[in-house]
Amino acid sequence: MKILNYINGSLVEPIGGDWLDNINPATGQKYGVLPDSRAVDIQEAVKAASAAFPEWSALTQAQRSNYLLKIADLIEANKDRLALAETNDNGKPLSLSQRMDIPRAADNFRFYATAALHLHSETYDMGEAGFNYVLNKPIGVAGLISPWNLPLYLFTWKIAPALAVGNTVVAKPSEITPATAFLLAELAIEAELPPGVLNIVFGTGVHAGQALVENPHVPVISFTGGTETGKTLAKTAAPMFKKLSLELGGKNPNIIFADCDYDLMLKTTVASSFTNQGQICLCGSRILVEKSLYSRFLSDFSQQVSAMKVGDPLEKETRVGAIVSQAQYEKVLKYLSLAREEGGKIETGGKPLYDVNERCAKGWFIAPTIITGLGPECRTNQEEIFGPVVTIQSFETEEEALTLANDSKYGLSATVWTNDLKRAHRVSAKIESGIIWVNCWLVRDLRTPFGGMKASGIGREGGFEALKFFTETRNICIQL
Ligand code: NAD
Repeated sequence: MKILNYINGSLVEPIGGDWLDNINPATGQKYGVLPDSRAVDIQEAVKAASAAFPEWSALTQAQRSNYLLKIADLIEANKDRLALAETNDNGKPLSLSQRMDIPRAADNFRFYATAALHLHSETYDMGEAGFNYVLNKPIGVAGLISPWNLPLYLFTWKIAPALAVGNTVVAKPSEITPATAFLLAELAIEAELPPGVLNIVFGTGVHAGQALVENPHVPVISFTGGTETGKTLAKTAAPMFKKLSLELGGKNPNIIFADCDYDLMLKTTVASSFTNQGQICLCGSRILVEKSLYSRFLSDFSQQVSAMKVGDPLEKETRVGAIVSQAQYEKVLKYLSLAREEGGKIETGGKPLYDVNERCAKGWFIAPTIITGLGPECRTNQEEIFGPVVTIQSFETEEEALTLANDSKYGLSATVWTNDLKRAHRVSAKIESGIIWVNCWLVRDLRTPFGGMKASGIGREGGFEALKFFTETRNICIQL
């Protein structure tokens, strides 16, 4: 597969003629190339997006929404092709791509196409003094940068609201998982989206990503990725006074009280720990269990996790696929060594797997891993590993559970398991996380705001928040 940049409505090669390899993590083999774009390619894309802005922003809301609905339909019509492309890029089970990522990408376009129809702003009648109202206007060219873990899902989660309210877009997907973004470009062409409205430029963070953030004609940046990258971005964007949203890393606690619905908790905790090889920013990586339940939980959880089928992502029964890249694979293995050095006990997993099948003999697979015996201060419990690795700690009181949960520089998400209604509300209000699930995981109404606290980011995406983020407000006061 030869991936091309999508600039001004056309698929084009990178101006400098540089290319990157696209590697399938399940086989470790190169299966295509993508542009290694530089500042000149970004400049072309920004030029096209700036030229398209006056007309796109002047369309009626219904006209813009119709384009987005057409793209949603095309994603659905091409769901099998998209799911396969994503699995080959990312290593996640094909069944997961089919069930979660691709339907959600279509939902993102459909949700924002319709939500934007209902965006409203405030108006206040000041009596004889006149009236005061707020206008929400599109900002201009939006720069959107996304990671590799949910490639199309997170890419479209930014593109759809930015376009819906009248901005034009230059988007850069992760260089590790470019294929679905390229297919999206083809679908945008098929939907006859006007040239320049959406531009997709492929390349690395240091070259293409940095050039996009630095470009003075891109006044708004929405970024999802690692906390360290977020810091670099903020340093570039802040002195230019760009509007900035940062969705960053996490080290999410999963707090299990003894009075929970045990079977549901166990089944969901297996999923919340290891779905997508633990490479969802919302996976619970620190499991905190009430002491009276600890032994039973450890035994049942270890048994279920060691029975999970790690395998070829293309096979139906596979529950855990490949780690996304060699670099990420080596990073996870380093953390497993660190956990051992810190005195952790590997209850199950803890090693790479080479015997998945012949096709995957050179792929990057790691057995789902449970670690016990480490205190909250250990690096294993403080740093984001972003792989199929969880730790378990025990607590005796609600206060102790909260102290452990909040003992982190991150604050993205948390899960609480209890059947005590008052405790559910009390604990949820005290956890320092942007999203808290009680007796469930990864369930969310797209109308609600999403985002992290502390080192997990600034700003909120989702719902009307995202539509407002991509607008500038003008406060207009008229004296009659
Ligand atoms: P990353 O930070 O390495 O890369 C993310 C994107 O930023 C990529 O497109 C990359 O090319 C680009 N980039 C890198 N350096 C850049 C720079 N200097 N300027 C501009 N762009 C640059 O992250 P990753 O490894 O792709 O993704 C994993 C991380 O993303 C994890 O930390 C995970 O927790 C986080 N994440 C967070 C959320 C959330 O909603 N909070 C969702 C998914 C993933």
